[in-house]
Amino acid sequence: ELRVRFAPSPTGPFHIGGARSALFNWLLARKVGGKLILRIEDTDLERSTKESEENIKASLRWLGIDWDEGIDVGGDYGPYRQTERLDIYRQYTEKLLASGQAYHCYCSEEELDAERQEQMNKGENPHYTGRCRELSQADRDRFIAEGRKSTVRFRVPDNQQIVFKDMVRDTVSFDSNGVGDFVIVKSDGIPVYNYAVVLDDALMQISHVIRAEEHLSNTPRQILLYQALNLSLPQFGHISLILGKDRSKMSKRHGATSVEQYKNLGYLPEGIVNFLALLGWAPPGEQEIFSPAELIEQFSMDRVAKNPAVFDIDKLNYINAHYIKQASPELVTELALPHLKAAGYVGEELTAGQKEWLVKVVGELQGYISYAAQITEHIDVFFNDNIEFESEEAHEIMKDADIPQVMEAFKTRLAALETVEPPAVQAILKGITKELKLGGKKVYMPVRIAVTGKMHGPELINLVPLIGKERTLARMNGLLA
Ligand code: GLU
Repeated sequence: ELRVRFAPSPTGPFHIGGARSALFNWLLARKVGGKLILRIEDTDLERSTKESEENIKASLRWLGIDWDEGIDVGGDYGPYRQTERLDIYRQYTEKLLASGQAYHCYCSEEELDAERQEQMNKGENPHYTGRCRELSQADRDRFIAEGRKSTVRFRVPDNQQIVFKDMVRDTVSFDSNGVGDFVIVKSDGIPVYNYAVVLDDALMQISHVIRAEEHLSNTPRQILLYQALNLSLPQFGHISLILGKDRSKMSKRHGATSVEQYKNLGYLPEGIVNFLALLGWAPPGEQEIFSPAELIEQFSMDRVAKNPAVFDIDKLNYINAHYIKQASPELVTELALPHLKAAGYVGEELTAGQKEWLVKVVGELQGYISYAAQITEHIDVFFNDNIEFESEEAHEIMKDADIPQVMEAFKTRLAALETVEPPAVQAILKGITKELKLGGKKVYMPVRIAVTGKMHGPELINLVPLIGKERTLARMNGLLA
């Protein structure tokens, strides 16, 4: 049975890269009927927060990524939060110490820093030289008497080639001589990531470890620990880095980087999931829009690329626009509302009538936007009654000899309407083309420009009823004044 995991450290906002790792694991698990485990790696006590953990879980749920085992849902291999597993790690540490595969190190930070500095001055790669490897009991007693604290270091075997076959990178090899005995338990008794992750993945019977490329360099250390503990190795798959469009590592400079930021901008989870799936995975065909079900069906690790994935915001917007078009106007309105409030278009409280009107307005605009916050860039036409022509071209059109007649005809007929609905507006416009014997363009375009100042936008026959009779007439009169 395939068992994969997503193992975030709750140390900050949930990054889009983390979401991509979670998604690939989820897609694989769902494809083959395996299990996805969610484990919280909170051994960095200073930086881990409950708030971040909650944010990660909420973001995963929002994306539709569910897990079969782990935090909040339980399972046979718990607990699923590392700080609740300290007793388990301790047992294994005892074993490693007893067999001599690990040892206590009493070096102080200052001594280690000095050692590193010296190595770097000599042009060597900084590594621990193994000073505490062979301490006598007397040395140890002395250090303890001096009040020195100890860490536990793993004794890295000399002269070993660590070779493994990565699902994405094929054969990867490292030389154990470059590694240096590394700390597995800090002086406060808390295990480091490289150690806890091995015990957890092994004890939780994880079959495939799929994670970000930044952990590739940790893998040899982890493999040495698997071997020392006689644990069977999972298969590893390291998915490539996510780069900004300028090919530097994706960071805040490139715009929003957390899932929550995209959510707040009014992106839809379907759009984000669709986009993230294509970030490093190449579908077999030309298709770009995928439902989660289609992704599950088509996903495979052998089409996950080795080279870095470039985060192309235009592509995300293109994909998300597709889902925004399909969404209900009610939903898009709800997502746009905080932005409309912030921009001052609507107040804190909306009456039922205002809400109903707003939903219709958003319905007219949602075909033009990529994410809900962009509604604010298009909605002015429904609020601002001071019309200004947007361009020279619009000015030219409005100088046409037929314009006064067209305007008068439209205003008179509109004023005579009792209720303004799209079919009635349609009938007026048609009637004018007939009466004045003008082509459609000669009527529709000037009226649109007169009512909105713009040459493009939502259907005129829908716009006019939403702006309403009085305001439409006021706009047109304002122009002539
Ligand atoms: N806690 C690690 C991280 O968030 C997990 C790495 C792994 O998947 O092994 O980067």
